[in-house]
Amino acid sequence: MTDAERPQPAPGPARAQLEPGRGAKSFAVSRLAPSPTGALHLGNARTFLVNWALARQRGWRVVLRVEDLDTPRVKPGVVDQTVRTLAWLGLDWDEGPHLQAADLGPYRAAMRELASRGLAYPCELTRGEIQAAASAPQEGDDGEIRFPPELRPHPITPAPFTDEQTNWRFVTPPGAVAFRDRFAGEVAIDPSETVGDFVLWTKRGCPSYQLAVVIDDHRQGVTEVVRGNDLLDSAARQICLSRALGLAAEPTYTHLPLVRGADGKRLAKRHGDTRLTSYEGAGIGAERVIGLVASWCGLEGPREAMSARVFLERFEFSRMPRQDVVFTAEDARWIAEDS
Ligand code: GLU
Repeated sequence: MTDAERPQPAPGPARAQLEPGRGAKSFAVSRLAPSPTGALHLGNARTFLVNWALARQRGWRVVLRVEDLDTPRVKPGVVDQTVRTLAWLGLDWDEGPHLQAADLGPYRAAMRELASRGLAYPCELTRGEIQAAASAPQEGDDGEIRFPPELRPHPITPAPFTDEQTNWRFVTPPGAVAFRDRFAGEVAIDPSETVGDFVLWTKRGCPSYQLAVVIDDHRQGVTEVVRGNDLLDSAARQICLSRALGLAAEPTYTHLPLVRGADGKRLAKRHGDTRLTSYEGAGIGAERVIGLVASWCGLEGPREAMSARVFLERFEFSRMPRQDVVFTAEDARWIAEDS
């Protein structure tokens, strides 16, 4: 039985006692974590609506965190637009928006700690060099190539974290990381097999997604991570890293099935323009988008336009289909129809 079928325990003091690392925070916290590198599309709308509805139904606090570290790809104005789009959908939050790029201090502190303990090392190898060294280059879902173990320096000397213009990699320990996902059930992934020594800090002078997520989920007191299934593999990396940093509590994960195009590929530009700003610009109401998301989430009754509020009232986590969702030509037509 997964959590999808199980009645949920109420968040409360009992949970807090189990998690002394969270200090004064005794409540459950989820986060909406959009990346402003591209406009939010229908797949993002599905993830955010489910995340938000779960949080509001179960009394979790919601933190909005904009993951704007990938600076070359973050265009001016996109952060504000991302926040406006979430509000257009009818979502709200209790804290934020927090911008990751506003203060790199906490990520630097983590790097200093890892480097001084010999758990991170600078690595100047290019992607091409790593690919050439790998006997059968494997690329993860996130485009990261498995780092061949023989390329790790030996021995690793604990060093100060001074060079921020170089990639730094994590000394990924061998062994499977086991965790229970509210959707995927029991999961065991060995990051030393899937990606090896992954990047913690990039030569662009900023932390990698993996490091930033672990630090922020901890300092923002996040206890619930709800996101797409493409990040299931990353969860194992993040747990490993959080253990290396001695962060007491790990969040509970809920990885949702993906939204795909009719060709089975992850929803992307080639499946048509599903950007939420394009629907808004065309005068299509958020209610149409939410109506489509609702039908993907197994809400009872015929497909109909609805507000986020109504979605919240009618959403039942246990009824969410377990398989990936397909965005069809019929869906595209329905969303553009007059309600
Ligand atoms: N910012 C990531 C995204 O938009 C989500 C990361 C996460 O939820 O951990 O895909």
